[in-house]
Amino acid sequence: MEIIIAKNSGLCYGVKRALNIARETRQKKTGNVYTLGDLIHNPQVIADLKQQGIQSVTDLDEFDQGWVIIRSHGVSPDIYRRLQKKNIKIVDATCPIVKKIQRLVEMLAKEKKEIIIVGNREHPEIQGLIGYSQGKGIIVENEDRVRQLPRKKKRAVLAQSTQDLYLFEKIVAALIEKTEELKVFNTICHSTQTRQKATSELASCVDTLFIVGGKNSSNTNKLFQISKRILPNTHFIESANQINHEMLKGSKKIGLSGGASTPPEAIQEAVDKIKTSFKHPFQREKIIQCQR
Ligand code: SF4
Repeated sequence: MEIIIAKNSGLCYGVKRALNIARETRQKKTGNVYTLGDLIHNPQVIADLKQQGIQSVTDLDEFDQGWVIIRSHGVSPDIYRRLQKKNIKIVDATCPIVKKIQRLVEMLAKEKKEIIIVGNREHPEIQGLIGYSQGKGIIVENEDRVRQLPRKKKRAVLAQSTQDLYLFEKIVAALIEKTEELKVFNTICHSTQTRQKATSELASCVDTLFIVGGKNSSNTNKLFQISKRILPNTHFIESANQINHEMLKGSKKIGLSGGASTPPEAIQEAVDKIKTSFKHPFQREKIIQCQR
């Protein structure tokens, strides 16, 4: 039996950075420290943060003093304004890559271009980006939505930083048919692209693949879809205890991959569970390696 972990699995730069900023803020500042939404889609990490005195809140009315950390997804200008009005101290942990996309949307809005933003309507990054578009942004989740759009002379298109590259390409192709002059900005972040590529490569060379991460994590869901397209025997698990014998039956090569908010411990726990699920001691000893 061989267990292979996809390259770039687990926490991305932006999420790690936001976690460090939150912990540092808690150490250095007095008063309550909040995060606007969960910093990471992992209940265990959120519980640990709570224990350290960092509380996750979703509604601005839930607090009226202290420090609030903006998570890596970023927020719309309206949220900054509302926080400033309430006199709340802001610690901005928006990922610098997301900040760059926000600036791009802002610039395109000034050029009075229609901006197609490819992503999930409910995702916080998209809700933030649309706020920078000054009414020029249109959220597109799939090709069907493109078919409903009218023909236009000029448009720009960009993507949520964790978008599935394959879907983005398909949407761009559909937009070309509807637009005379289309400006394409591939804003899918490098770490996401590497993770997606590594996961699809791994899916083509293993018998079973586990995607580890929160079901509410958009990028982990995309990894699942990418792997499932190639390998039907792909399982989306939130924790190691969801792995059972049936899933591993007949598998000699098992792959693991995790999204941008999957902590390394969650992947390690899955590896341990797979190892102990094989009763024969020899099988338990076999190689664990990381993909090159
Ligand atoms: S996925 Fe990329 S853009 Fe998004 S937070 Fe992580 S590093 Fe930043």
